[in-house]
Amino acid sequence: MSYVEIREAILQKIPEDIGITRIEFEGPRVAIYTKRPEVLVEQGFIVADIARLIKKRIVVRSDPSVRLDEALAEREVRAIVPEEAGITQIVFDPTLGEVTIEVKKPGLAIGKGGANLQEIVKRTRWNPIIIRSPPISSTTIKQIRNYLYSRSKERERFLRETGEKIFRSTLSTPGDIRVTALGGSREVGRSAFLLRTRESCVLLDCGINPGMGNPLNCFPRIDVEEFDLDLLDAVVISHAHLDHCGFLPFLYKYGYRGPVYCSLPTASLMILIQSDYLEVMHKEGRMAPYSPEDIRSVITHTIPLRYGEVTDISPDIRLTLHNAGHILGSSIIHLHVGKGLYNIVYTGDFKYGYTSLLEPAASQFPRVETLIMESTYGGSKDVMPSRSETERRFVNLCNHVLKRGKVLIPVPAVGRAQEIMMVINNHMRRGDLVEVPVYIEGMITEATGIHTAYPSFLSKEIRNRILHEGQNPFESEYFTTVKQPDLREEIVEGGPCIIIATSGMMEGGPVIEYFKRLAQDEKNALVFVSYQVNGTLGRRLQSGLTQVQTFNSEGKMEITEVRMQIHTIEGFSGHSDRKQLLSYVRRISPKPRNVIICHGEEEKCNELAKAISRHHKLPTWTPDILETVRLL
Ligand SMILES: [Zn+2]
Repeated sequence: MSYVEIREAILQKIPEDIGITRIEFEGPRVAIYTKRPEVLVEQGFIVADIARLIKKRIVVRSDPSVRLDEALAEREVRAIVPEEAGITQIVFDPTLGEVTIEVKKPGLAIGKGGANLQEIVKRTRWNPIIIRSPPISSTTIKQIRNYLYSRSKERERFLRETGEKIFRSTLSTPGDIRVTALGGSREVGRSAFLLRTRESCVLLDCGINPGMGNPLNCFPRIDVEEFDLDLLDAVVISHAHLDHCGFLPFLYKYGYRGPVYCSLPTASLMILIQSDYLEVMHKEGRMAPYSPEDIRSVITHTIPLRYGEVTDISPDIRLTLHNAGHILGSSIIHLHVGKGLYNIVYTGDFKYGYTSLLEPAASQFPRVETLIMESTYGGSKDVMPSRSETERRFVNLCNHVLKRGKVLIPVPAVGRAQEIMMVINNHMRRGDLVEVPVYIEGMITEATGIHTAYPSFLSKEIRNRILHEGQNPFESEYFTTVKQPDLREEIVEGGPCIIIATSGMMEGGPVIEYFKRLAQDEKNALVFVSYQVNGTLGRRLQSGLTQVQTFNSEGKMEITEVRMQIHTIEGFSGHSDRKQLLSYVRRISPKPRNVIICHGEEEKCNELAKAISRHHKLPTWTPDILETVRLL
């Protein structure tokens, strides 16, 4: 449907006295500006009817001329929202006519059947958005919100132009669907897959490889002619790990001004991750590939989505995100090409099994022709111990070491950190893990704050504890956040304890400081609980490195002798192991016609591909970097 047709359909269905002043694209949605928004809000069926007819999401916005003055509107909001809802912040966005009301208890603020919201629209003609104030406040979320408000006009223009591009008239019938691996294929790191049709061009993920120095191995191959920034319709990010989103700001540095789609939590987490990456590069005196300004461009151009929300992202591609069970907000990306023509499921990193933090990955889709799946643990020997066995080993190891020494756990700030926190909290509470102080340092607390802001993306169990029982397991009394680096000496000199610190692959961050101080003593233990990419210090220690060179704050080289115990506990992974990968291929519904294997070391890709073609009789591909697979 063209803009003119959409406009006609809307004007025909909406009674004239509602006073429509503008109809505009707002990204993938259509915005209707009216002088009487309260009527459309009250009589929701009118808008629902139109949405069904034009097959697009609709937002109702008030014409700026009818909105109550902000100070008066704030007074009205405070009068309507009951005191027990606990308002913590009210922010007005005059461009969109929205008032964001941050509250402790969203249910009470919304009222029965949305009664309070309707009342706010009626009395103020501002559109209320209710959000939960996170129990652990997150600076990132606040900064993103403030930045977006400051760029409200620019944001409005971006959304309108994006909408016009999405709903442009097509030049040909849909077809020629092909996928090119620009990174993250037959390797782990720098994930980037280019999907092209006759009409559009979409990039899935845009990561970096933290273990590689040479740009040709470290960044996606966007230098090739297959990739044209000017033709790119959208970028979709599966989750906020550096190897999936770390290179995204670079696209903006080189002039990309189109949208990025990802889940709500990913939109916050990836900004945190990218900013931290810049900081780490800066501290180490290395040249970063982009600047903070480019990260801010990402904020302005991100369109966050909920799981299950079907969204047009180009004239012939529809996107839906589903839970991937890997980290908070991680998504399996479902792409529907043409009207009923072809369907692709890209798993990103996914966990098809139990974790404390998240539900297992979604496996039911309306249609699937091609499955693009990761194979990090796809090798024939990559069968992990069961989850209960894993926890038992972890607890036994900690109990043993803590008799005399300290346990140092390097973790990525997002995901594994919170998972390990939950495991430690549960076992200390039950009494089978010795109660010692647990020190947490790095961006972990900030990432935890983002977790508590999106409880609906967490596992049912944790969500219920936060929402209904009012006990937030992330705020357990066992945990101490280390805010001042000078406390490190005290911790290292003190008694047995557990230290959880970033970065996860020991490529920098406070974990290095603890490591340097604990490494000489064989009573201490370094315990890996996450995947170590080839080339990283973490991987080299796992392989038996006995001397580590580091630089101190004055830039002088130091040699650390490694005498501490080095352990790896397999099984906490946010990735599916071999069994789970194969059972996913068996259970995914409907059954795909073919499978592309990626995100695994070469041997693992091949071993998984062999198993899938043998057991499931499905054609498989393991494309090399820059190889293109034609799907249709
Ligand atoms: Zn990941």
